[in-house]
Amino acid sequence: MSDIATQPRSVSQTQQWEECGHRFYLQRIERVTPLPAAWSHHGTAFHHAAEQWERSQRTMTPEETVEVFNERYGLLVNEALDEEPNTNRWLSASGSGGDDIERRYVLGQEQTRQYVEWANRTQPEVWATPAGEPALELYFMVELGGVKVRGYIDQLIADDEAAVRVRDLKTGTMRSRFQLETYAVAVRAGYGATVTKGDWYLAKNGGLSRAVELRQVTAEQVGERYAVMDAGVKAGDFQPKPGFSCRFCDMKHKCSFSSDRTCY
Ligand code: SF4
Repeated sequence: MSDIATQPRSVSQTQQWEECGHRFYLQRIERVTPLPAAWSHHGTAFHHAAEQWERSQRTMTPEETVEVFNERYGLLVNEALDEEPNTNRWLSASGSGGDDIERRYVLGQEQTRQYVEWANRTQPEVWATPAGEPALELYFMVELGGVKVRGYIDQLIADDEAAVRVRDLKTGTMRSRFQLETYAVAVRAGYGATVTKGDWYLAKNGGLSRAVELRQVTAEQVGERYAVMDAGVKAGDFQPKPGFSCRFCDMKHKCSFSSDRTCY
C-alpha cells in the first residue's frame, strides 16, 4: 500500500478509481495479472506506428508504417500468448479471443494506412517544445490539487491561432474530456503555451472528432478530481461498482463482485 499511496497519479489511475475502486485495488495493490485483450495491443501498436511515422518527418511510406504496426502488434500478441495461450481466456468485445486477435491485425493495418493518408492530406503541424522537441508522446509531470500528476500526451498540434491543440489518438470508442483537460493544464503549466482546444483522432473514422473547447478549464477544477482520488486511495477507499463494465474488466477473474458470470 505504501507505494501506491505516494506515487504520482495519472488520468487512467483516477478514472479507474472513480469507475470501480475494487478494480484499482486488484490491479494496483494486489497486482493481479490482468486478462489479456487484443484491443490493448491494437491500440499500443497503432500509437507506435503513428509516432514512428511522425518522427520520420512523414517520410516513411504507408507500407513501411503498416510494417511498424505489424511488428509491434505481433510482438505484443506473441508475448501475451506466451503468458496466456488459451485465447478463450482473452477478453473480446465480440467473437472469440482468437478471432479478435486476427480481426484487429487486419483492422490495425487499415487504420495505420488511413492515418498516414489522412495526415498527408490535412498536414497537421506538430508543435515543437521550446527545446525543439517534437510534441509526440510528450511526458509531463505537474502538480494539480496538491497531487503530482504525470502522463504522456499523444500529440500537440500548432493551431492557426497561435495556440496549441491537444490531440489524443483513439482506436477504441472511449473518449475522456478529463484527459484533454489534464493535458491542457499540464501544457500551460509546463510550457506557458496557450491551449484553447483539444480533439481526438478517431482511427475508426479515419479523421478528427469535433474540437473540445478548453479555454475555460483551470488547474483548480481539474485538480479537484485528483485531490479526491488521492485522498480516497490514501484512506483505503476502494468501492466496488459492478455493472456493465464488468464484462470488459481485466480483473474480473479475481473479482468476487463481478456481475459478469462468464467462467474464467
Ligand atoms: S469485475 Fe466489475 S466489480 Fe469487479 S473489479 Fe471489475 S469492474 Fe469492478
